[in-house]
Amino acid sequence: MGPNKPKIRRLPLLPLRGLLVYPSMVLHLDVGREKSVKALEQAMVDDEMILLCSQSEINIEEPQKDDIYQVGTITKVKQMLKLPNGTIRVLVEGVMRGEIVEYIANAEYYEVTVKELSEQVTTDSEIDALMRTVLSQFEHYINLSKKVTPETLSAVSDIEEPGRLADVITSHLSLKIKDKQEILETVEVRARLEKLLNFLNNEREVLELERKINQRVKKQMEKTQKEYFLREQMKAIQKELGDKEGRAGEAEELRTQLEEAGVPDKVREKIEKEIDRLEKMPATSAEGAVIRNYVDWLLALPWSKRTEDDLDIKKAEDVLNDDHYGLEKPKERVLEYLAVQRLVQKMKGPILCLVGPPGVGKTSIARSIARSLNRKFIRISLGGVRDEAEIRGHRRTYVGAMPGRIIQGLKNAGSNNPVMLLDEIDKMAMDFRGDPASALLEVLDPEQNGTFSDHYIELPFDLSNVMFVTTANAVHNIPRPLLDRMEMLYIPGYTEIEKLQIALRYLLPKQIKDHGLTEEQMRTDEATLMKVIREYTREAGVRNLEQQIATICRKSAKVIVSGDQQTVTITADNLKEYLGPAKFRVSLADQEDQVGAVNGLAWTEVGGDTLVIEVTVMPGNGKLTLTGKLGDVMKESAQAAFSYTRSKAEQLGIASDFHEKNDIHIHIPEGAIPKDGPSAGITMATALISALTNIPVSKSVAMTGEITLRGRVLPIGGLKEKSLAAHRAGVKKILLPKDNEKDLQEIPETVRQELTFVPVHHMDQVLEHALVRPVSIG
Ligand code: ADP
Repeated sequence: MGPNKPKIRRLPLLPLRGLLVYPSMVLHLDVGREKSVKALEQAMVDDEMILLCSQSEINIEEPQKDDIYQVGTITKVKQMLKLPNGTIRVLVEGVMRGEIVEYIANAEYYEVTVKELSEQVTTDSEIDALMRTVLSQFEHYINLSKKVTPETLSAVSDIEEPGRLADVITSHLSLKIKDKQEILETVEVRARLEKLLNFLNNEREVLELERKINQRVKKQMEKTQKEYFLREQMKAIQKELGDKEGRAGEAEELRTQLEEAGVPDKVREKIEKEIDRLEKMPATSAEGAVIRNYVDWLLALPWSKRTEDDLDIKKAEDVLNDDHYGLEKPKERVLEYLAVQRLVQKMKGPILCLVGPPGVGKTSIARSIARSLNRKFIRISLGGVRDEAEIRGHRRTYVGAMPGRIIQGLKNAGSNNPVMLLDEIDKMAMDFRGDPASALLEVLDPEQNGTFSDHYIELPFDLSNVMFVTTANAVHNIPRPLLDRMEMLYIPGYTEIEKLQIALRYLLPKQIKDHGLTEEQMRTDEATLMKVIREYTREAGVRNLEQQIATICRKSAKVIVSGDQQTVTITADNLKEYLGPAKFRVSLADQEDQVGAVNGLAWTEVGGDTLVIEVTVMPGNGKLTLTGKLGDVMKESAQAAFSYTRSKAEQLGIASDFHEKNDIHIHIPEGAIPKDGPSAGITMATALISALTNIPVSKSVAMTGEITLRGRVLPIGGLKEKSLAAHRAGVKKILLPKDNEKDLQEIPETVRQELTFVPVHHMDQVLEHALVRPVSIG
C-alpha cells in the first residue's frame, strides 16, 4: 500500500498573532481584523473549515504572504459569538496540519489552497522511550518553572499518541513562536519528539541556571547583610570600649598613665610586662580584658601616695571634743595613743579596739581620729565576712576575680596611710572557705604587714603606714590571737542625761541642718527630747534616738514646705503627732508586784538589759523545766537555785516535800543573749521562793548575782551596763553582789543619785529586799 496522495483543498486563511494552534487543541480566539472576520464568515458559509497560520511578526496589521508561515493547522470552527464591541469570539478545534500551496487572489479575505499534512501513526520501542524521556523532562520542567501546574502533567501523561503528546507539551512551554512553529512544521513524529526533547533540555538548563543565579544572589545578599551587621556590632563595641585602634592605642595610653603614676620600680616592671602582654592581644579577647583590669588596679593603688600627718595633740583634742559629748575616758585614751604614736614615729603599737553596744559613737570616734590626724578615713565592715578571699582577694585565675577588701579600701582612700576602721571584728565567721581571722591577723601584725600580699594583686603592699582601728560589740567573740593584738577601749553606753546632752548639742543641730531647716524654723525643748529618749527609745547608744530626731525633722520639713506653717514647735504634748504613740511608756517600777516574777539584769552585746524571770509551780512529781531561748545557758544556775531552795525549805516555810509533789517551770523570756549566764542565779532563786511561798516580789527592785548551793552571792560582770539598763527601765533599787561594790564608782553620778544600790552577800538579804513581806516561818 503506497502512501496516499496528499489532498489539496481551498480554504479561507486566518493569520494568528503571537499564538499557535496545534491539531486536536480546542481553544477560544477573539478575532477583530476585518479580513479575518470575513474569512470566518466564509468558512461558516462553506464547511466550517479554516486554516490558521501564525504571523512571523506580531505587529503587522495587514500581513503579506511572506509574513505568514507556510505551515498551519486546518481547523473546525465550532462556535461563533459576536461580541458587543464588534469583535467575534470563536471556539475552534485543530484537525490536522496543512501547508499553503498558493494564495488565491481575493480582496475581501485571505484565501489559499492547502495541502493536508496527515500524520503517520507509528509506534515502536524507540518512540516509547522518547515519549517517556519527554514526559520525565517535562516533569522536571514543571518542578523548576512554576508556570505550569502539576495537574497539567497528569493530563499530559494520559496521551498515548506520540505526535499529539509532542504538540500538547509544546503548547504548554513558554517557547518563542519561531520554535513552536518549528514543532508544528515537523510532521515526522520521531523527529518532532526529538526536537521537543531538545527544547525541553534547553529550557531546563536555562531554568536551573536561573535558579542557581537566584540562590547565589540571595546568598550573597545574606552574607553581605550578615557581615555588615557584625561589622556594625564590632564598631559599636569598640566605641563603647573607647579603643579605636584596638589594643595598641590602649597600651600607649596605659604607658602614659604609668609615667605619671610614680610607682616603685618593682611595680613598674610588673606593669610594663603586663602592658606588653596586653598589646599582643586581639582587641576583643577576654584575656585582654582581664589583663587590662589588673593593670588598672595596679595603677590605681596608692603605692607611694600619702597624706601629711598633723601631729598636733591639742588639735586632735579639739576635734574629738567637737564631735563628741562626754566619753572622757575614751577620748583621753585616744589622745594618749596618738601621743605615743607621735613619739615612736611608726604605728607599731597595739591596735585600738573600740568595744561597746551599737550607737555609742565608735565609728564616729574613729572618723574623728582620722580628721584630727588629717588622714583619709576608710571603713571596712567585717560583719558576716566568712571567706578569707574577702580579706585577701581571689587569685586572678578565677573568673571575675577581685582584690580583697583591704586593697579595695586603699584604692578608695587614694593614700597609703589612711585610718582604716575594721568594723564589727567580732562578727566575722569562719567556715570551709578559709579563716578570715588569720588573714586579718597578718594585716594587723606590724611584723608582717609591711609586705601584705593580696591574692589578686600578687605584689606585696606595705600596710605599715595604715592606722588600723577596730570595733566590736563584745570581746568574747573575738578570736584569741586577734584579741592579743588589740587594746580594748570600752564605751558602755549613755545615761539619759548624757543622751539628752548629745541630742541637744549634736544630734538635733545635725539633723536640722541635714534636713535643710534652721533652728528658728524648728523649735523644741529639753522636756520634749527627754520624752523622746524615755518613751520612744530603749537602747544603750543613741542610734534610735538619732533616727527619731530625723523623723521629727523630716515631718517638720514637710509641714513647712507644704506652706501650712512658717515655723514648727514640737512639745511634749504634740510629740505623738510626729512619732506616733509612745513605745515604752510603762516603767517596771509602775507595774504591779507579782508572785513568781522577778526583774533580772543581763549584760548583752547591745549593752545592759532587764529581763523578767517567771516561775510557776503546779502539782506534779518533781520535774524542773526551763523554757525560753536561754534555757540551756542557765540550766546550771537554775539547778543551783533549786537545790538551795530545797535545802532551806524548812526555814522558808515551804513544805519539805514540795519538790516531790510539784512540777516547777522556769521561763526566761527571749531577747538578747546575755554574755554571763550565771548572773541570773539569785533572780531565779527569788522567783522560785516567791512562787512557793506565794509572796509577791517588788517590781521596783532588780537584781544580779550568781548563787552558790549555800546561798552565797557571787560577783558578776557588766555592772555599769546593767545599772544603765535598770535606770532606763525605771527600776528604783538594785541588788548587787557585795564583791561588785568596788565597781560602783564607775557608774555615772546621775544614775547613782537616782538608784539605790544594795550590796548583798547572801540570799537572805536578797529576799529581805525583794519580797514585799518577810517569809513567815512556819
Ligand atoms: P557605733 O559605731 O558605736 O555603732 P556611731 O558612731 O555610728 O555608733 O554613732 C551613731 C550616731 O550617734 C552617730 O551619728 C554619732 O555621731 C552619734 N553619737 C554617738 N555618740 C556620740 C557622742 N558622745 N557625742 C555626739 N554624738 C554621738
